[in-house]
Amino acid sequence: MELNVQRFLDFLNTWYISNTLRQETELLTSDSELAAFMKKHFHIEKAEPLEEVIKFRNDTRELIQSRTFTKLNQVFSEKITFEIKDENHKYTLEPRAVSESFIGNLTVILVKLAQDQQLHRLKMCPDCQYVFFDSSRSGTKKWCSMTKQSKSGRACGTISKVRTYREKTN
Ligand SMILES: [Zn+2]
Repeated sequence: MELNVQRFLDFLNTWYISNTLRQETELLTSDSELAAFMKKHFHIEKAEPLEEVIKFRNDTRELIQSRTFTKLNQVFSEKITFEIKDENHKYTLEPRAVSESFIGNLTVILVKLAQDQQLHRLKMCPDCQYVFFDSSRSGTKKWCSMTKQSKSGRACGTISKVRTYREKTN
């Protein structure tokens, strides 16, 4: 997984359900928090207004969950443009942000994933709603992680399996 995809995931997971309390948590509650997040993860300082950034994040999360592109197609038409790239007469369309902006940069990542046939690997855990990139060979991962030892510390798949097992045996 490329580093910029990880950054994109960090952004999508600025809204999350906390592990221990199972509470919905919003990290981007003010302009200063957004600025700090951008600086830390993207090393850029210019962004759209907080409201617009949050809408983009929520629309993207919705896209990952429902696979409907209507809302984001609108964003694409405003935020990016394409340039033809020539690599030894192999031509590709290279997405570029219309202006250097936070959403523009993120949109480019999203479009590149789609171009690389990787967009389906962006997934949302059906349990905790954590967004992750499924880098498994088969691309059939369903939950954010299966073990507690994983980086995110979640064990949704395991919990779900236990639940299914209990339901079956009860
Ligand atoms: Zn999960």
